[in-house]
Amino acid sequence: MVIVLEKGIPQKEKEELRSFLEKNNFRVNEITGEESTIFGAVGHLSIDPREVEILPGVERVIPISKPYKMASREFKKENTIVEIPNNRGQIIRVGGMRIVSIAGPCAVESREQIFDVARKVAASGAVMLRGGAYKPRTSPYAFQGMADEGVKILKEAGDAFGLPIVTEIVSADHIPVMEKYHVDVLQIGARNMQNFDLLKKVGAIGCPVILKRGLSATIEEWLMAAEYLLSSGTDKVILCERGIRTYEKATRNTLDLSAIPILRSLTHLPIIVDPSHAVGIRDKVPPMGLAAIAAGADGIIVEVHCCPEKAMSDGPQSLYPEQFDKLLRDIDVLAPVVGKETTRIRGTEWSTADKTLEQEKNTTTQISDGPVTCAYSGTRGAYAEQAIRHYFDGDALAVSCSDFRSVFQAVQNGSVRFGMIPIENSLAGSVYDNYDNLVRCEDVTIAGSLKIRVEHSLLGIKGTTVDTIKTVYSHPQGLAQCGKFLSEHLDWEQVECNSTSEAARLVSQKKSTSCAAIASSDAAGVLEVIKNGIESDPRNYTRFLLIEANNMAKNKKTSMEVKILGDKVLVS
Ligand code: PEP
Ligand code: MN
Repeated sequence: MVIVLEKGIPQKEKEELRSFLEKNNFRVNEITGEESTIFGAVGHLSIDPREVEILPGVERVIPISKPYKMASREFKKENTIVEIPNNRGQIIRVGGMRIVSIAGPCAVESREQIFDVARKVAASGAVMLRGGAYKPRTSPYAFQGMADEGVKILKEAGDAFGLPIVTEIVSADHIPVMEKYHVDVLQIGARNMQNFDLLKKVGAIGCPVILKRGLSATIEEWLMAAEYLLSSGTDKVILCERGIRTYEKATRNTLDLSAIPILRSLTHLPIIVDPSHAVGIRDKVPPMGLAAIAAGADGIIVEVHCCPEKAMSDGPQSLYPEQFDKLLRDIDVLAPVVGKETTRIRGTEWSTADKTLEQEKNTTTQISDGPVTCAYSGTRGAYAEQAIRHYFDGDALAVSCSDFRSVFQAVQNGSVRFGMIPIENSLAGSVYDNYDNLVRCEDVTIAGSLKIRVEHSLLGIKGTTVDTIKTVYSHPQGLAQCGKFLSEHLDWEQVECNSTSEAARLVSQKKSTSCAAIASSDAAGVLEVIKNGIESDPRNYTRFLLIEANNMAKNKKTSMEVKILGDKVLVS
């Protein structure tokens, strides 16, 4: 059951509640959400929820209807993000707004082989290295893996390129060797999905686990297996769809992509897809990898080999490094469409911001200095705020400013470390104010850039319809990007604001059904969405620049010329 605690519950009452539950044989998990704090209580015995509801500090009790408890959405509303640190002070996050790519050979075969492939996949943008050292092969005569030595050299190769490692554990006897070589993520293979003893022992270590779907497992059986891991002590479980057995013989297995949206509503756990074992045919892997991302997967795990013809296992389904490189470039293009960013290892893509962020993380004590700050124009829900979340992956504090000029000033006077400003939009063109600001502020330089897809909504108070609206508020860019929609409502007065989120705030203050705002649905707050997707073309992208003070950058610049060429921002 889920026990929602009263806001501001005294610590003493909380502890008493916990010990009451523990005495009744419940395992208690405390989850602090944005809106409330909950206790997730799971146990063998059932208890009348009313007995808990009457206890001091309890707001309400929600029974969990599903057989899996800790894995269910009822238990935890927010998506779980599994954090895996690398050896460069960076945290790789699986789940949320990021797409991760894990790659490597089916099996570790030699030191040279694993280093070669690690180098290649890291250069293409993989963020973790996979490789089996204990292989669960169908035939006892097939290559069984390099065992302990394989784990050791996999770790060395991962460390050389900043890639945490993923390897399969087939027996609890191998836990000591996995711990000895600091394996970052343990994989439970399809054949072991219901090896409950292994699940319990691996769960008890508490490390991140990739749980593959069993060869013929239903989604419910799969989630019950996840429940074994979660109830044994780890909260870092990543589900991996890898194809299931069907009557179809054209592919090795049948990739069940429909499992992704189904799982999204049933569980809070992150979901990745292994298109390699699913289709089993090299050329069919990239389209299914792309399809997985389009269907909402948080990442892919792909077999890549520098010389698949000589691979000791699964050569026919292993991608050549060039194919993997193309797949990741295609995913980069797809990511903004699904509202996500691809994760990269800092240090392989050397933007100034990446470097400074890394330096800051490594050299300053975060506790005393606080988080990295980044200013933007607007308030919560502004597109620039989304851009900050995408760029820094939640590692930066977004600081609201009233206009673009104030963002530049905050960067110049050092009250923030970075600023995020829009520079051009695919429908409405350049944001001239910011070109002017960049030219005027010689002491500000560009640290990075990113592009996000912009979907506008028409927002109003309850009861507002397109027929009651007389005035529409937005940033000039918002109005321009919705030109087609607004041309159907020529009687509406258009009022320009400093930001789209400011427009939403204004409309909520006016409390009139004659007013509406054009902004992101994230900015709605108390407003309701009257119409979604009102931008003139769904292919609506805004490029943002990350700016910082010149004295922060390594190379001081006295004058600056900004050129935007395709995806690159050139500063000279
Ligand atoms: C693997 O990833 O190496 C593997 C054996 O996969 P699966 O368990 O999905 O067959
Ligand atoms: Mn394999």
